[in-house]
This record gives sequence, C-alpha cells and structure tokens, in this order.
Amino acid sequence: YRHGEASEVSVSTPNGVVHFGLQHPLVVVAGPCSVENEEMIIETARRVKAAGARFLRGGAYKPRTSPYAFQGHGESALELLAAARQETGLGIITEVMDAAELDIIAEVADVIQIGARNMQNFSLLKKVGAQEKPVLLKRGMSATVEDWLMAAEYVLAAGNPNVILCERGIRTFDRQYTRNTLDLAVVPVLRRLTHLPIMIDPSHGTGWAAYVPDTAKAAIAIGADSLMIEVHPNPAKALSDGPQSLTPDRFDSLMQELSVVGKAM
Ligand code: PEP
Ligand code: MN
Repeated sequence: YRHGEASEVSVSTPNGVVHFGLQHPLVVVAGPCSVENEEMIIETARRVKAAGARFLRGGAYKPRTSPYAFQGHGESALELLAAARQETGLGIITEVMDAAELDIIAEVADVIQIGARNMQNFSLLKKVGAQEKPVLLKRGMSATVEDWLMAAEYVLAAGNPNVILCERGIRTFDRQYTRNTLDLAVVPVLRRLTHLPIMIDPSHGTGWAAYVPDTAKAAIAIGADSLMIEVHPNPAKALSDGPQSLTPDRFDSLMQELSVVGKAM
C-alpha cells in the first residue's frame, strides 16, 4: 500500500482471484443469514452465482440476541459451505465468534467475518490478525468511525494487511420502521480516512427486503467497493433474518439493475 492510495484486498477463490478495492469492479457477496441445510445452501449458492455474485455468505456460528433463538449449525454448516464452494467455485465468507473455532473456520472460509457485536473484541481481532485469511470487519452497531478504524488497526497491527470494512447500519432512535440506520455517508468519510476497501450491507442496514434494492443502488452511487446482500430461497421460512432477505429472483433482478448504476461488475 502506498500512502494516499486505496489498497486492494485480493482473495483467491476456486473461480479465480477476486479483488476488493477502488480500482476494481464491484464485488457482490450474497447468501443466507444462516446455513440451514444442504439443499438451501447449494440452491442459494447456484442462484447467486448465476446472478453474478463472487462470494457466498452464510453463518455457521450466529450471534443471536436471544440464547433461545437458532444459534447456527456450527461445524456441520462449515461442511455445507465447503460443499457449496466446491459445487460453485464461489468464495466463502462466514463469521467467527470465538477464537476456539478460528482454525476450522479458516479451513473453509476465503474471508473471515468479524460481526458487529465483536467489532471491539480485541483478543479476537488480534487472533484474526495473526492468521492469513482476509478479514471482513463489520462496524459495531454503536461504533464511531474512530472506534471502527482502530478495531481495523488491531488486525493490521497483528500482521494481517487484508481488511475490508463493512457498514451494516448503526443504532439510532427509530427501530420501528428500520432495524438500523444505514450510514451511507460513511463511504466518502472512510475514503478520506483510510485506504481499506469499503463494503455496504443494506440487508442488516435496513432490516427489510423492500428497502434493500434502493439502498444497494445508493451504496454504489456513493462509491462503495462491495455489497453484502442476504438471499434466501424462502425468506418467510428462514431461521434468521427472513424479513430482510431477498428471494433469488429478486436478487437476480437487482444485479441487473445495479449494473446500470455505476461501478461495473
Ligand atoms: C450477519 O452478517 O448475518 C450478521 C450477524 O451481521 P452483523 O454482525 O452485522 O449483525
Ligand atoms: Mn443476518
């Protein structure tokens, strides 16, 4: 990285190297909130790949607000992600919640996600910084830009230069009509303050599928390098985050709409 220039994060996937960054085409990451079973993850992977996504996302270990809610299938979900990777060649992005699972996650994941709730889990940040897989660092739901950039510094300082920042909405006072407040203005702010690639997650950012397409387009218009979109074959039956998940058909049409907004894919 040269001072004053945007850096890139390059990830090798079975389908080839994918570059995240200002000088590169838009990278779309799509998939369900949680990996639920083999059929749904393979079907979703095939559909999002056909629509133009480069990475499949899906949670194996889920940070749920309630301990009684579905917690993710853990290790068996990692095996299903590996199968989807083999089947489609898509790169895999999945979340690590606990350092104890970092090694088995890193065997399957091409990019390791740190979720909003762990953004300032400094011991976890040091551990993902000490391994080689690129890291997707989601913004904490009440993190300032400074908090977030310093969290990224923990990973960088531990020796891992490959960090992607993901804005996923912050908490403001309205939770009735939106789940979070998607801070799109942070894109040009980050561009001025950091060289790291910038991803926007309009799914968690709004909480509602109906708002995802417009905010995804706005994210591109304001200069995001990448998008993360939740897609589920049957959102009404999803075990987590169904209300904000697009169907594969809606995702496919969104991808066609995105290609006319700005940054090429
Ligand atoms: C997710 O990506 O499914 C997730 C739990 O995201 P966040 O950490 O942004 O809430
Ligand atoms: Mn989710």
